[in-house]
Formats: sequence, structure tokens, C-alpha cells
Amino acid sequence: MGKKVIYLKTPEELETIRQNGVILGKAQAEVAKIIGEGITTKKLDEIAEEYIRDQGGVPSFKNLYGFPASLCISVNEVVVHGIPGNRVLKNGDIVSVDCGVFKNNYHADSAYTYCIGEVKREILDLLDSTKKSLYFGIESAKVGNRIGDVSFAIQSFNERNGYGIVRELVGHGVGRKLHEAPEVPNFGKRGNGPKMQNGMVIAIEPMVTQGKRFVIQEQDQWTIRTEDKMFAAHYEHTVAVTNNGADILTTFEYIEEVLTKRNLIFV
Ligand code: MG
Ligand code: MG
Repeated sequence: MGKKVIYLKTPEELETIRQNGVILGKAQAEVAKIIGEGITTKKLDEIAEEYIRDQGGVPSFKNLYGFPASLCISVNEVVVHGIPGNRVLKNGDIVSVDCGVFKNNYHADSAYTYCIGEVKREILDLLDSTKKSLYFGIESAKVGNRIGDVSFAIQSFNERNGYGIVRELVGHGVGRKLHEAPEVPNFGKRGNGPKMQNGMVIAIEPMVTQGKRFVIQEQDQWTIRTEDKMFAAHYEHTVAVTNNGADILTTFEYIEEVLTKRNLIFV
């Protein structure tokens, strides 16, 4: 097999992805407005899809590889790829909401983990470590650095905190396709992997476990959960590598504005 091509993007392409990132952030904010105890994950999916389509976008995940919904919603021990359905959220749950927006021929991809009601201190610590590691990864996304530098930043920070790093799922390039080269693992060695260049766009998405790092796939062929059923967290940004440093093209700003207004806990 030949090496997969990494498509470098022009400044105009970055702006298109950034605009999609704004739609995505606002779709997540619609989720943030209603998420809470007693709501089903299906309802969150509906609200996000409606918002994205109202903005002239298409939910990237819907029908991708046959996925049946617009959001991946992953509760507690589910790491990623949870299918929205009739599950009712309850006090103490954590909920990863992963969203993609496609418009004007480009995708944006971003995930956020929400808290339902009162979440245990040790789970908040897990979320905090995961989210901080996302930004450490982003800081390492520099022209001339290698993908392994991003991977190492994420892995070393979380493992130092005693958490597990999921190996089976990785970040990825983003562009005309949701999943492009290169792969962006959350584990690895400094100085390894493809060299980062101006115009590279990557989704950086640490998936971090409270217990052991091992995961299994449920019988629905989608849901990935921890083998030991301990909780997992997931945050994701789509990021451009540029000569002026990492440029985050998605945003948590709209989400956190809503969560602050609602007086809800987040890290
Ligand atoms: Mg995603
Ligand atoms: Mg992704």
C-alpha cells in the first residue's frame, strides 16, 4: 500500500472549515441548552441535526460508513461512536457529544464531554486531564514538528495523571473528507510520524480512560466502550497547522457560554 496523501489547505479553505466550525459550535450550544437529567440522547441528536440543516450544512456522520445518526453520543463507559437512542440521561452521567458539519465541500469535527447534574470529583479530574491534554496536543501542532510530538504530549500528560489512552481509535486529517491522512494517535514518540506543514488540518481528539485503556465494541457494531466499564472522556478540535502556529478552527466558546448561563458544571 502506498502512503496516503496529506492534502494541504489554502487560507481560503481554512476559512471555509472555520465557518463550519462555527456552525458546529453553535449546534453543540443547542445541545448544551437542553442537555440534562431526563432527556434522551435521541433528542440531542434531533436538535443538532435540525440546527445544522437550518444553516445549510449536512451532519458529517449521518450515513458515513452506515452510521445511523447525526451525532455520536457516548455516555459514561462508552468512549466513542455511541448511537443516539432512547437512553435517558441521569444525574452523575458524563456524555461525549461528537459532531461533524459538512458545508461548501469541507468538514469540521469537534467533540465535547458534558456533565449531567453532580458528577463525582474523580470523574471531573478525568475530564480536566483529557481537556488539558487536547490543548497540550494543539500546542505541539507546529510546522516542523511531527505528529508524534502531538501524540506524545497527549499521552504523557494523561498517563502521568494515572489515566489510560485508547489506542484503537485516533485523530485524523480533515478536509473534503471527514477522515483524511494523516492519522493522529493519542500515543506515540516525540520526533516520530509525518512532519507537520503549513496548511495541514487535523482533528486532535484524546480519548482517555479512568481505568485500563482497553476497549471493546458492542454488538451494534458501533459503540466502543471500556472493557472494565470505567468512565472515558473525549474532547476534540479541528486544528490547522500554520506558519503562525496552531489555529483552532472549531470552538467550545458557544457551548461554555450556555453552560455558564445555566450554571452547569464543566471543566
Ligand atoms: Mg469527532
Ligand atoms: Mg474526529
